[in-house]
Amino acid sequence: MNPDQASKVSGASFERAIALFRTQFQAEPRWVSHAPGRVNLIGEHIDYNDGFVLPAAIDRRLSIAARPTASEEIRIFSEQEDSIETFDLKQPFQARKNWTDYITGVFWEWIKRNATPCGLELCIASDVPLGAGLSSSAALEVATATLLEDAWHLALSPTEKALACQSVEANYVGMPCGIMDQFIVSLGKKDHLLLIDCQTNTHELVPTRGAFPTLLIINSNVRHALTDGGYAARRRQCDEALAVIGERSWRNVTLEALEKNKSELSKVHYQRARHVVSEIDRTQQAVKAIQERNMEQLGKLLYTSHDSLRHDYDVSCVELDWIIDRLQSLGTCAGIWGGRITGGGFGGCAVALVEPDAVSTARDHIQAAYHETFGIQPDFFITHPSGGCECVNVDIP
Ligand code: ADP
Ligand code: MG
Repeated sequence: MNPDQASKVSGASFERAIALFRTQFQAEPRWVSHAPGRVNLIGEHIDYNDGFVLPAAIDRRLSIAARPTASEEIRIFSEQEDSIETFDLKQPFQARKNWTDYITGVFWEWIKRNATPCGLELCIASDVPLGAGLSSSAALEVATATLLEDAWHLALSPTEKALACQSVEANYVGMPCGIMDQFIVSLGKKDHLLLIDCQTNTHELVPTRGAFPTLLIINSNVRHALTDGGYAARRRQCDEALAVIGERSWRNVTLEALEKNKSELSKVHYQRARHVVSEIDRTQQAVKAIQERNMEQLGKLLYTSHDSLRHDYDVSCVELDWIIDRLQSLGTCAGIWGGRITGGGFGGCAVALVEPDAVSTARDHIQAAYHETFGIQPDFFITHPSGGCECVNVDIP
């Protein structure tokens, strides 16, 4: 590894992946592919509804240390799982309905694209919490894909790579996700948010320039069981509502048009639709607020987004509502601009926009009281928009 790369890539998961690799495989890795988690600032549950989303890559990463082998086997170890899973390259990859699907699905995509497979040993270490709405799944997919670009000699553009990984999650793993997670993990840039137009799959970097507030992530450490069915149900309800309104895309639906169709829609369908239409608008307003450096306006948009997800889209939970209410009661005079639930919902994390010197105030007002109320310790960490996935050759003398 050259010194420039070393300074860019030092980080807990990066070092752990190498150390674990040595222990598990008694060898030195050739590559470390390391991908960020992500936080979505605004634009929630509209990536699959032709909307806009505005995520940032975070500085917590998942790292895969790997080396090629002469065998026709893939051997994978994850510190989260503590066991080596083995796959035969001569057999077609098939989902095992476990964590390895996020990886072998990517192998399969590369084989379908006529890559040149070779045996591999892989070791995964991660600082992206699993299932907390910070997209450990996309980090795992995109880190694997970026590794294969070197290891199996088939490189894709960052956008194609993101689409291939999204196809893995939707079709191979069986989680019908939108394109946001894989796009930001692949295309994230330091000090930038990424505005993704999910209708056209085009994207635009939005610089955060200068003294942008800190992103404070608060992990509620709750996960409500509803997740998978709840997500699929909402996707279905949105499709049904759009059909009743008689449009092909949510981008053509205004709040006025929605009101005109209100009597044709059930209460639930109307509420889902109102979230989608208003969130598409809020996300565009948020970009304008960032460009104008209007943090008060940006913070208000985050709170409104939370309310919409809470009441209209019904994907929040008491623990996260409690956290957001608490932040709001501290207010802008305490340096807290706004916050909302982030990710798929039903638990997971909140994101708040806070001045750097307000982080401890926010933590102090939430930590002990949250534990007292719910009997759970929340986790806090601060982050800044960081870079997308990279694969580093660590075997260069
Ligand atoms: P999120 O993407 O919000 O973290 P998901 O449910 O989409 O939540 O993805 C989490 C799943 O991804 C885990 O249950 C596991 O199967 C897989 N995964 C993520 N990170 C790792 C890891 N470090 N080791 C093994 N599996 C992982
Ligand atoms: Mg995920």
